[in-house]
Amino acid sequence: MVREGSCLCGKIRISFEGEPINKMLCHCLDCRKISGSAFSTNIVVPAAGFKILSGTPKTYVTDGDSGQEITSYFCGDCGSTLWRNGKVTDFNPIVKAGVIDDSNFFVDNEAKPRVELFSHRRPRWVKEIPGAVQM
Ligand SMILES: [Zn+2]
Ligand SMILES: [Zn+2]
Repeated sequence: MVREGSCLCGKIRISFEGEPINKMLCHCLDCRKISGSAFSTNIVVPAAGFKILSGTPKTYVTDGDSGQEITSYFCGDCGSTLWRNGKVTDFNPIVKAGVIDDSNFFVDNEAKPRVELFSHRRPRWVKEIPGAVQM
């Protein structure tokens, strides 16, 4: 199944297909800054099925909380980060699940994280996801 995603202004559009490699909720400090919120919800997708349909994202490279270099791809007009990529996932894009256009992706269980990363940083007022591996 092909999934499409876009930034807030719609200039950058992406698509991906293939079974997600992982589904990760992340409590790292980078994700806090990028999202402006408590955590991020991410889908690691196979690089082979990932495409940029329109627009040219800007990039920002940093050493992530993992200590490994990671590149953020974001819209220079509206600022949405659509995905990150790096050695940490063998260069399979880490799509920010909130950019996926079909809102049922969240409502149904498709986006439900299998893993919580940096769970030691989880705010005390956020509950663990039942069944998710805590790392
Ligand atoms: Zn945009
Ligand atoms: Zn993170």
